[in-house]
Amino acid sequence: MSTQDRVFRPYIFIGIIFIHLGALFGFYYGYGIQNGFSTSAWVVAIFLYVVRLLGVSLGYHRFFTHQSFEASKPVQYVLATSGGLSAQGKVKNWRNDHKRHHAFADREGDPHRPSEYLNRWKSFWWSHVGWLCYETKIPIGYKPPPVALEHKIVVEWQAKWYWVIVVSGFLIPYFISGMDGLFLGGFMCLAFCLNFTWLVNSFCHMIGFHAKARGYVFDTRDARNLPIFDLFGMGEHNHANHHVYQNSAHIGWHWYQSDPAKWVLILLQHISRKFSRKLVWNVKKPEDFLDYDKRLIIQ
Ligand SMILES: [Zn+2]
Ligand SMILES: [Zn+2]
Repeated sequence: MSTQDRVFRPYIFIGIIFIHLGALFGFYYGYGIQNGFSTSAWVVAIFLYVVRLLGVSLGYHRFFTHQSFEASKPVQYVLATSGGLSAQGKVKNWRNDHKRHHAFADREGDPHRPSEYLNRWKSFWWSHVGWLCYETKIPIGYKPPPVALEHKIVVEWQAKWYWVIVVSGFLIPYFISGMDGLFLGGFMCLAFCLNFTWLVNSFCHMIGFHAKARGYVFDTRDARNLPIFDLFGMGEHNHANHHVYQNSAHIGWHWYQSDPAKWVLILLQHISRKFSRKLVWNVKKPEDFLDYDKRLIIQ
């Protein structure tokens, strides 16, 4: 992508700097001015970390973008709200960027391809965070697939309330634990959430392991699995697996590939069955897409 095809988005740049400066100052506040953070601030921060990243992984990514399962309206609202707390943009925009990523993975047209520059470090920063600060031209002839009809009401609702949700991500920890909560559960937690998500676009397209199953190694261009981050990213860092079966709700395939978002789905399915409440259903698994094996590289 040539640099003329981009328009700088200063408000995103300032927002990202603001969150990270807040996180750095929070660290100084907790360990330089005080003797650490209160227990309640830790509890609310860990809770918000899980909610935020589950919202992104299960909601923004697996549900709204890939339709890898179906969910009742209340579950859809919870997923859209939790994802919104992670301040990664409105679900409809996140979805469009990600659809484009899959359509052009690692090639010209991918909004965050990790080979944007010849310099590897420059490319890393571009795919990690730089691309967010620019509006890039949509490739000629490409149109992101429209939002699914059954998601539309919630997607539009979330777009309307998006900023209220983002601000709540700071106000809730502040009301529970004061300044400790604001820094730890607001700024620091958010900075961690953002960077763990961004690592999927940067590191997971640069270093790591191929997707392997049934004695095959899959060709996923540059997408790689980075199991050391799985647990923190709710399973998203099994990214090579995801590029093989994009519409599968299960991203961790092996016992050593943690996939907490998958575990939550299994739990929701169990609750649905036990109490005859339709929470989630039609959960797609890798086995449902075995025809993709045509793209295998045989080891
Ligand atoms: Zn990818
Ligand atoms: Zn995806």
